[in-house]
Amino acid sequence: MRKRMIAGNWKMNKTFSEAVVLAEGLARELEGGTGDVDVVVAPPTVDLKGVAEVIEKEEAPFALSAQNVYWQEAGAYTGETAPNMLEAIGATYCIIGHSERRDYFGETDEDINKKAKALMAHGIVPISCCGESLEIREAGTHVEFVVDQIKKDTEGLEITDPSKYVIAYEPIWAIGTGKTATADDAQEVCGAIRKTLVDIFGEETAAGIRVLYGGSANPSNIAGFLEKEDVDGALVGGASLKADGFADMVRSAMA
Ligand code: PEP
Repeated sequence: MRKRMIAGNWKMNKTFSEAVVLAEGLARELEGGTGDVDVVVAPPTVDLKGVAEVIEKEEAPFALSAQNVYWQEAGAYTGETAPNMLEAIGATYCIIGHSERRDYFGETDEDINKKAKALMAHGIVPISCCGESLEIREAGTHVEFVVDQIKKDTEGLEITDPSKYVIAYEPIWAIGTGKTATADDAQEVCGAIRKTLVDIFGEETAAGIRVLYGGSANPSNIAGFLEKEDVDGALVGGASLKADGFADMVRSAMA
């Protein structure tokens, strides 16, 4: 059975002290626990240490994620962060392949595949993002497009524990725009992702991989997505920057 997951992507928001305040606020909001729901927060790289300390001190019921990683172990890669650095700081998840990284920084599916392998070699769970542009959605080829991304992003991955690989379907036209996909739109693509995972990894593994929806998810619309068979939670951007609203989303997933 797949555990639901609510993950917050703070993107390039919050200085070190602001990130600590937000993490402390979330720890207070969730001090009663999160039931069967895995909760993850992804602060900017420079804030990871501060949030890790809050999690430890407050025994907070959420896990730490990075927003990006480089696949090399060490060396002359100015500005990059290696998987063992994330591991050492206590990050147990890492977002890869976010559409903003694909669009603004030219990341390819091949890069994302290398990042997934490097993270998994260090026991860090990738939250691997996929999703189509508005142009592709309007052309009606979104399912084929996303299935192709999944095939490339997972090529050669060995998944022994399916709870340790997470996919986030994020239609680009719904990210940060206030335009959400409908729950049926999300199910259409998340269901196609599940079928593709069955073809690649077999029924049992595919049944254990979480597929999240992301794109203007908020406390008012999350319940509709969670009703869908192949939607196992949400990757939340803007709405994860307020502790009370994000905690409300976690509570919806616990219901
Ligand atoms: C995201 O960036 O992963 C995201 C889903 O953003 P938002 O919720 O703000 O649309």
